[in-house]
Amino acid sequence: MSQTYYKGYWMVTNRCNLSCSYCVLENASHQLRAELDLEAKKEFISHLYERLNFRRLTLSGGEVVIFGKRPPSGFIELLRHIRQYKSKDPAKNLEIEVYTNGTFLDENVISEMEGVVDMVAVTIDGAQDNFLTSIGRNNQKFHQYFDRIVHVCSRLTKCGIELKLHSVISQKNHMSLANELSFILNAIEEAKGKVARWKFYQYMSYDAPEKDQKHAISQEVFNSFAAHAREALHGRGTQLHFKDNREMNASLFNILSYGNAQYMRDGDSWTTSQRTEDLRSYSSMEELFLRHDIDERRFKQFHEILR
Ligand code: SF4
Repeated sequence: MSQTYYKGYWMVTNRCNLSCSYCVLENASHQLRAELDLEAKKEFISHLYERLNFRRLTLSGGEVVIFGKRPPSGFIELLRHIRQYKSKDPAKNLEIEVYTNGTFLDENVISEMEGVVDMVAVTIDGAQDNFLTSIGRNNQKFHQYFDRIVHVCSRLTKCGIELKLHSVISQKNHMSLANELSFILNAIEEAKGKVARWKFYQYMSYDAPEKDQKHAISQEVFNSFAAHAREALHGRGTQLHFKDNREMNASLFNILSYGNAQYMRDGDSWTTSQRTEDLRSYSSMEELFLRHDIDERRFKQFHEILR
């Protein structure tokens, strides 16, 4: 019988240098203290690879580059640990994707990514500086977010790392971003960046009424944005993905910075979502499915690697 391999999304840290208005992070000091330390993070990756058969990991945050005491040294050490799992044989290779706000991606970090990281996704919710300031993408130390990210995109392409854009579609930007799509792509291409994929997320409710009131959009508004984006980006050679709340909820299996994972059963919301134990306590995925009554078929629909 052929082996089943999995892909997973790991929020390596809840630490972040920005504070976006739509973001919900568990970043109180006691929560940050509960995160796996560097040695545990390395052990965790080895367990996912060796025992749970993960062959693709998305490293995310918070801002993944800045965990630990002297960023980016922890992140770099983690990349060096992962290097042992890179292989020309697809059954052995651990593919790595990194989701980042890009503010710490300097030459040093990007060169450490070469040969380890297959794809980097950076977030662009708009091109106007005043809009980006209003949603928390700029702060005193990290400003001119859009210009910085265009520069980062250029450097990633130069290093041969596949580039992806992420945009969160909310009340704040569904109209403005719809008119900026070509401008954004043009700016990156003029800087010699090549955007392979662009994923658009419908703002997801975290059961926080104050945030939802400001950001939530209906399925209809999201669909209308998607139709506009498909037209505006037609023929540009960029693969598009529109991820709505239904897909977000059905696919949710967030591996958290503490080593456990958050998942939803039918009818769950963010607040009633479930949590597993530390994934290092399971010797196989079958054991995980069984102990938590996780719908294996649905899990595999989103998390099995099909070759
Ligand atoms: S950069 Fe990402 S993790 Fe950080 S505050 Fe913004 S949305 Fe949240």
